[in-house]
Amino acid sequence: MLPVGDGAPGDASSLRWPTPSSLAGQVTCERAVALLGAARATQGFMPDDEGIALHLAARRAVALGRGPLVEIGAYRGRSTLYLAAGIAAATGVPSAADLRHRSALLYSVDHHRGSEEMQAGWAHHDPSLVDPETGRMDSLQAWRSSVVRAEADDLVVGVVGDSARVAEDWATELSLVFVDGGHGRDVAWADYRGWSRHLAPGGLLVFHDVFPDPRDGGRPPYECFLDAIASGSFADEQPASRHSLRVLRRIA
Ligand code: SAH
Ligand code: MG
Repeated sequence: MLPVGDGAPGDASSLRWPTPSSLAGQVTCERAVALLGAARATQGFMPDDEGIALHLAARRAVALGRGPLVEIGAYRGRSTLYLAAGIAAATGVPSAADLRHRSALLYSVDHHRGSEEMQAGWAHHDPSLVDPETGRMDSLQAWRSSVVRAEADDLVVGVVGDSARVAEDWATELSLVFVDGGHGRDVAWADYRGWSRHLAPGGLLVFHDVFPDPRDGGRPPYECFLDAIASGSFADEQPASRHSLRVLRRIA
């Protein structure tokens, strides 16, 4: 497997971002290819080119080797599997061998009760995800099936609960945080503030659904993204971003 870049493991600054179009030739790791296929076959809210960008961010985070990865907003596991594919691809880099253990793991956080727009009567509601016993939405079983079917259990740990609540007790330094949970103002800011503080220097903060034009989507992810840059703690990794998936790197 080719490394993401030619820098030494842990030296993320020397890593180059491959473009998604050059990726096909780079993902030679069989397991990563299979996981990308599984991600594409999983229902969800992540276009493929954004998923590939997410995959590349995960590869770089594992090469950084400063701790595990966290995803907020797992739903049926589509983004989970793009991230898992990135971990699989990165661990194929022989020189990263000694960094693997702590970093080659994704914690995937979701209460699996769905965001507002996924509840009955809303645009993104999927009736097949309603638990007949409680009448409430529950995507946990669907997420688990996706991960098990893709044979990604060893790369992913599911964390079921409110993301801000989990962030409060979290104490482990992270190489990557992917924010794609609730998009309401309070929830989005709580995720951004609660999780970004756990990022190691050089760690990646990835937002989904960042829309500069309000006609394209809600404001909170974009406002959090702007705040991160204005804080002076994050650099915009423009070449690593695709559409509404925006990648930032912790610099302070
Ligand atoms: N990344 C997914 C889509 C995520 S949709 C994909 O690739 O398809 C947003 C998810 O965030 C939903 O599954 C919802 O249950 C979860 N969510 C919303 N608010 C949350 C909260 N406060 N805590 C934990 N999960 C939350
Ligand atoms: Mg999203």
